[in-house]
Amino acid sequence: MLKVYNTLHKKIEDFLPIKKGRIGLYACGPTVYNFAHIGNFRAYIFEDILRRVLAYNGYKVKHIVNITDVGHLRSDADAGEDKILEQAKKEGKSAWDIAKFYEAAFKKDWVRLNLLPPSKWARATDHIKDQIKLIKVLEEKGYTYKIPDGIYFDTAKFSGYGKLSGQKLEDKEAGARVAENSEKRHPWDFALWKFSPKDIRREMEWPSPWGKGFPGWHIECSAMSTKYLGQPFDVHAGGIDHIPVHHENEIAQSEAAYGKPLADYWVHGEFLAVDDKKMSKSLGNLYLIDDIVKRGINPLAFRYLCLGAHYRSKLNFTREGLEGANNALKSLYKIARGLGKQKIGLARSLASRPTFGRSHTGEAADGATAEGCAELEQNFLDRINDDLDTPGALAIMWEMLKSDNPTSAKAESLLKFDEVLGLDIKSYLGKKIKIPVAVAKLVKAREAARAEKNWKLSDELRDKIFELGFLAEDTAEGTKVEEK
Ligand code: AMP
Ligand code: ZN
Repeated sequence: MLKVYNTLHKKIEDFLPIKKGRIGLYACGPTVYNFAHIGNFRAYIFEDILRRVLAYNGYKVKHIVNITDVGHLRSDADAGEDKILEQAKKEGKSAWDIAKFYEAAFKKDWVRLNLLPPSKWARATDHIKDQIKLIKVLEEKGYTYKIPDGIYFDTAKFSGYGKLSGQKLEDKEAGARVAENSEKRHPWDFALWKFSPKDIRREMEWPSPWGKGFPGWHIECSAMSTKYLGQPFDVHAGGIDHIPVHHENEIAQSEAAYGKPLADYWVHGEFLAVDDKKMSKSLGNLYLIDDIVKRGINPLAFRYLCLGAHYRSKLNFTREGLEGANNALKSLYKIARGLGKQKIGLARSLASRPTFGRSHTGEAADGATAEGCAELEQNFLDRINDDLDTPGALAIMWEMLKSDNPTSAKAESLLKFDEVLGLDIKSYLGKKIKIPVAVAKLVKAREAARAEKNWKLSDELRDKIFELGFLAEDTAEGTKVEEK
């Protein structure tokens, strides 16, 4: 049975769906004002694993991810400029163009990391009416108040405020910064609707019963999750930084409006640090997926790196760590290539030579079943179902690959495991390496140099082949070329 850590109850719990066989999963998506960094993507990788684990357990998952393309202010206290408008000014573009550009960049990285496409990408600006409707319900129920810059949620009226983070309001009060917006009743009250400044036409603004303006950041998630998944739905996920403000506010809005829980399970992923420091532009240690690609490293090596740490523990990103993950991934692909080849080639040749019933490595021929891997497959399932223990699951995968089970059974298990790991094994299983023409030419030239015993030239050519990402190995049958 699947167990997950539920932030709401601060313990690991058995996972029980609301509707048999179906899961509603909502994950907070990006604010599209800049490129998402590798820390953001650690959160999305964890959410992708969560989704894949749910599917592996036989659930049909409806996965909603929002795109915040308006209304996320610079500070959690609802003061400061909208992040998208601020960036638009910096780049001299329209706010709509900024949102469009960074949304496309985000989705490109999403694909590069082999994250499954959500059932729906839900843009905040496509759901303004739904957000206004929800604010109206809150207004009718007496949870809102108006001050000069907008309509706010009165957190003192919602008795469950603070239940997710476990913070008591008194403690919050003691620790609160000087309220940036002095007219709020409490510093942690938050904007549901912000008014456009008087006499200035904002680029992104909509009419509302309260006046022209734009939605606060939190309201979109409440409106869209309930619209697509109902209320309550099963799982709400995000990074831990969302617990004390964003998710607390989502709960307050949805539960105050409809008098029932927002979601049953709240699952949060820990942060990624770089060289033991918080990642930030000012420290110059903010990395993008593009930076990894530019170093000639497969972005899935970053995914592998994330799998190697439990989602609830901090992950310290280092260059060496990424290179280690890249090497492990390459070994995995190399094994996968071999597995597929033997599955087809070996089984046929053995069938015509029955005396070879078992090869020297103990691999069975035709009729091999997955029985040999059944126990390891169970162990794999146990690991992922134990609060998504991906480091444990990776260890089982390697144990399975090193076992002397039939090759075809190993190939089958590896493909199954990859439904959860998402390392794109199917593109490698049994596939020959495609050698670029430039590399093939160098290999030929090197063979000619070796025939002439010109070892110096042969070594130089080997280096050139290496620079192009391939290894030339000399065997009795000639040069064997492999990817680095
Ligand atoms: P944001 O666009 O700031 O709302 O962040 C998008 C997602 O990335 C959220 O789920 C955050 O919790 C998560 N996130 C932001 N920074 C990090 C980090 N350094 N490590 C892991 N997750 C992060
Ligand atoms: Zn959200």
